Amino acid sequence: MGDGLTYPVVELFESVQGEGYNTGKEVIFLRFGRCNLACPWCDTRFDAFETLGEEALVTRVVLLRPKALILTGGEPFIQEGLEPLLIRFKELGYWIGVETNGVVAPPHAWLRRIDYVAVSPKALYAALYDDARMVARADEVRIVVDGDVRAFCDDMRNRVEASHYFLSPCERDGKINVEETIRVLGVLNRGRRVGKWLLSFQTHKLAGVR
Ligand code: SF4
Repeated sequence: MGDGLTYPVVELFESVQGEGYNTGKEVIFLRFGRCNLACPWCDTRFDAFETLGEEALVTRVVLLRPKALILTGGEPFIQEGLEPLLIRFKELGYWIGVETNGVVAPPHAWLRRIDYVAVSPKALYAALYDDARMVARADEVRIVVDGDVRAFCDDMRNRVEASHYFLSPCERDGKINVEETIRVLGVLNRGRRVGKWLLSFQTHKLAGVR
């Protein structure tokens, strides 16, 4: 059991994964507070959270139905003392996924407990991605097209080893840049027969689910 550890929790709810390779998977989203970045199009109020101890958090999670948990944020890998929580949920039989911006890699002991890592590097903060600190292996890389990200995509493809690479349109002021995103996809996939970049949509928004 964690030694008096507490966690900043923005929200905890069951839904369906709407993005990336695990689209359609029924999961519980555990959104942590605090982030090490401040993307201008971020739609998460990660500074408004309640602080929960391990027992209170586990109690709330087990009341929900799915046995799969996605830790998101904010930024999960800057949370202190995540390991006891990961151990606890693995003991309870949960599949654990994490969505991270990838600037800071967690200790290996954390990664051993995590079933799926989705990294979403942010082009705006390209300078913060340092080989010595960043997440360099993941299951999926998902990059938001928030400008001309072609060079950044190539760079991240070389530096983050992953099974799947996705591009996501950016939603800003109610507009989604779908056309720009598919054009970038076309450029990135030119001449590529395997390992293509794929389109990832926030399908949960289209479906009107959280
Ligand atoms: S990394 Fe994610 S949570 Fe953090 S500011 Fe950017 S979009 Fe928001």
